[in-house]
Amino acid sequence: MTITLNPVLPGRRTVEDLRETAERGAALLRGASAHRVVEWAVAEFGERFCVTSSFADAVLAHLVSSVVPGVDVVFLDTGLHFSETLRVRDQVAHTLPVRVLSITPVRTVGQQDGEYGPRLFSRSPDECCAMRKVEPLERALRPYDAWAAGLRRDEGPSRARTEPVGFEESRAKVKLAPLAYWTQADVDAYIARHDVPVNRLIDQGYASVGCWPCTRRTAPGEDPRAGRWPMFDKVECGLHTP
Ligand code: SF4
Repeated sequence: MTITLNPVLPGRRTVEDLRETAERGAALLRGASAHRVVEWAVAEFGERFCVTSSFADAVLAHLVSSVVPGVDVVFLDTGLHFSETLRVRDQVAHTLPVRVLSITPVRTVGQQDGEYGPRLFSRSPDECCAMRKVEPLERALRPYDAWAAGLRRDEGPSRARTEPVGFEESRAKVKLAPLAYWTQADVDAYIARHDVPVNRLIDQGYASVGCWPCTRRTAPGEDPRAGRWPMFDKVECGLHTP
C-alpha cells in the first residue's frame, strides 16, 4: 500500500497530544507488522515523520519508502564514517524514492581537534558523540513530530525491550521502531528479496557499523553491539533515549 504524504499540518501538536498519540499507537501496534507501524505513523504525522539511518543497510529506508515515497531519511554525517557507509548513503539517495538529509556537526573534525584536542573519541567518547551525533540529531528532528529508527530487540541487551512505538520525553517526539521484533534472519531475507543496498563491512565481520574510530569486527555469536566503543563501557551513543 502506498500513501501520499499529507500536507504539513498548521501549528505544532502539543506535547500532551503527541504523548497520548504514542500511548494509543503503542497499544494498537503491539505485535503489528513493520508495514502496519509505518502506515500508522504516516497517517498520524504526515510530513512530520522521518526516518533515521546509519546505513549499515537500507532496509528501513526501503521499507518506509515503499509505503511513503519521498520520505525524509536523516543521516548523521559525523565526518568519521567509513567510506563504505557513505557509499550506501549515496546509493540510497540515487536509487530509492527518498530524500536523504546529511546532517553535519557544528564543528568539523579539525575544529573539534583544535578546541578539544585530537582524538577526543579515544578519551571522552560521550563528549564526542554529544557533539557529533546527539546535537545534530536533535537539530535535525526539530521539524518532525515522529521519527523511526532501525532498532531491533535482537541487537543486544541494550535494545532488548524496544517497542514499535514509544514517546521520548526528553525530545517530546514519538519514536518508532518498526523493525523492533525482526531478527537478523528477517533482515537478511528482506535484503535478498528486495535487493536492498548493504554496507560491505557487514560481510567483513562488522555486525554493527558506526564511526571508524569506535567500531571493530565482532566474533560469530558475539553481542552485535560489542564491536562499538570496545575500549569503553559504552554501547549506545546517546541517540536512543529511554
Ligand atoms: S562514535 Fe566515536 S567518533 Fe563517532 S561521534 Fe561517537 S565517539 Fe565520536
